[in-house]
Amino acid sequence: MIMKKIIILISALALWVSGYSQRTCGSELNMEYIRQTDPVRYRRIIAWESAVQQNLRSSMKYSSANKIIIPVVVHVVYSSTSQNISNAQIHSQIQVLNEDFQRRNADKEKTPPAFSNVAGSANIEFRLAKVDPNGNPTDGIIRTRTSVAVFTQDDNNVKSSSTGGSNAWNTRRYLNIWVCNLKAPLIGYAQFPFNFETSPNTDGVVIDYKYFGRDGSAMSPYNKGRTTTHEVGHWLDLRHIWGDKVGCSGTDYVSDTPDQEDKTLGCPSFPKTDHCTQVSPGVMFMNYMDYTNDACLNMFTKGQVERMLALFNSQNGIRKEMLLYADALTAPTPPLHLWTHRCLQSECVHHQVFR
Ligand code: ZN
Ligand code: CA
Repeated sequence: MIMKKIIILISALALWVSGYSQRTCGSELNMEYIRQTDPVRYRRIIAWESAVQQNLRSSMKYSSANKIIIPVVVHVVYSSTSQNISNAQIHSQIQVLNEDFQRRNADKEKTPPAFSNVAGSANIEFRLAKVDPNGNPTDGIIRTRTSVAVFTQDDNNVKSSSTGGSNAWNTRRYLNIWVCNLKAPLIGYAQFPFNFETSPNTDGVVIDYKYFGRDGSAMSPYNKGRTTTHEVGHWLDLRHIWGDKVGCSGTDYVSDTPDQEDKTLGCPSFPKTDHCTQVSPGVMFMNYMDYTNDACLNMFTKGQVERMLALFNSQNGIRKEMLLYADALTAPTPPLHLWTHRCLQSECVHHQVFR
């Protein structure tokens, strides 16, 4: 009898431990740690940042009046039936991305009035690809069975078929999203654009299958698709809102997001203040680049949107080439015969793709 009670107690404890999940994103950038351990990388990030700030001051800025279409490919890499998420689950995620980035999200009304004047909407539309890199029709979803039970950020194995994953489609043309079983407590990670030139084949975002899409098979409290909104925010060069440093000296390089002492977990009630924001309106914990629960996130700022657009600057924007074929790669009736393989698969940047 006592034994049975102990067993029940132990299983309850195990359930509590495994059921407890706190948002953990793999894209934290501890600049001081990087400075000390990897000075080369540190200098590269600092140089990147100074170029971004220059770009933001430039008169050649990307106009927000021009819509940016981003062709998306979703690689579902699964080792069990539940990991092989449905098309409906994937479509719900694309819808969330469009709502959140364009500020068409139903819960935008929850943005406190004190912050609504800086709320930003990006003229960005995410579309599942209709043409693959070989010029063939596709639904923009790749399904790959794997024998790998758990993927990690350190090895990036999910991004290569030789290691049980799925190879990226040309990252100059497509946003690659991998959905797989990630090693807990990690629920997603992204590759920052400052790594694009050195590591083009791993560009994109990775999301745990339990937190991808809205409702359906997604698990509370990360069941509103905001993990992907957050990671795609990183892919578009956004940093964590608290600057990945405890204290007030960390920065996300965006001026209209208030300094914030640390990440926010759970779902606090507004207003919340900390040592950096001791006065109203306090911490912007409803920003997608914080760690708050999905249901409590609802905004990007104008400054964050400007930062995203800098990547598409016609002069030196690192993602500007994505604009060249985005329309045709996502058109309802793709002009299939017009494609040359070379341009879609490699780094051709001119308009010779049409015969
Ligand atoms: Zn993050
Ligand atoms: Ca800021």
